[in-house]
Amino acid sequence: MHPISDEFLLDHASGAASAPVSLLVASHLTLNPEARRSYRRFEALGGVMLERIEPAATSPDALARMMARLDTAEPKAAAPVETGIIAGLPAPLGRYVSGGVASLPWRQVTRGVEEAALPVTGKGGERATLLRIAAGRAIPKHTHRGLEMTLVLDGAFSDEAGQYGSGDVCVADGKIEHQPIAGLAQDCLCLVVASSPIRLTGPLMRLLNPFLTR
Ligand code: ZN
Repeated sequence: MHPISDEFLLDHASGAASAPVSLLVASHLTLNPEARRSYRRFEALGGVMLERIEPAATSPDALARMMARLDTAEPKAAAPVETGIIAGLPAPLGRYVSGGVASLPWRQVTRGVEEAALPVTGKGGERATLLRIAAGRAIPKHTHRGLEMTLVLDGAFSDEAGQYGSGDVCVADGKIEHQPIAGLAQDCLCLVVASSPIRLTGPLMRLLNPFLTR
C-alpha cells in the first residue's frame, strides 16, 4: 500500500492545498482505507487536533506547519471524507466526469498512453489529468520539473520504486527518474497532478522534449 504522506493530508484537511492536489487527496481518501485512518488524526483542526495528534508519527515539517497555521487560523472542520462512487470513479473526481470516462476528450501522448485534461487548475500552475496506460505499456522514462502526484484509480503500474495498485499514490520530483509500466492484466487509469510537463530522459526520447512542452 502506498498512502500519501501526512503533509498532503494536512494541507487537504485545512484547505491549504491547491484545487488539483485536493482533488487527488480526496479521491485517494475515497479509495484507500489506510489513508482514511491517517486522515482521522487531522479531521478536526484546532485544540482537538493538538490533543489527538501523535508527534512521533508526523514529520517535523508537518507539525511545524500545523503549529504555524493554528496561530493564524480560526479552528474549523476539516475537509470531509467522501466514500461514494460517481461514474465509476471516486465521488470527488466523478463529479468532473459526469458523462463517464469514455466521454472525455482523450488525446494520445505516445503509443498505448492517452491523457484527458480535467477543468481543475491551481494557482501554482498545477493541472489535473486523467492518464490511461494500456496493459503492459510504459510511459517513456522521464524525470520531473516539479512535483508529480499519481493516484491509481483502476489497474496497476510499477516503476523503479515499487508497485502501485488501486488507491495508491506515487509522488515523484526532480530527483526521481522513472518509467511507469502498466500491469499486464488490464489498462491502468490514473489521476495525475503536476505543475510542469515531464522531462524525458531516454536516449532518443530526449529529442521529443520540445513537443511535450505544452
Ligand atoms: Zn513521473
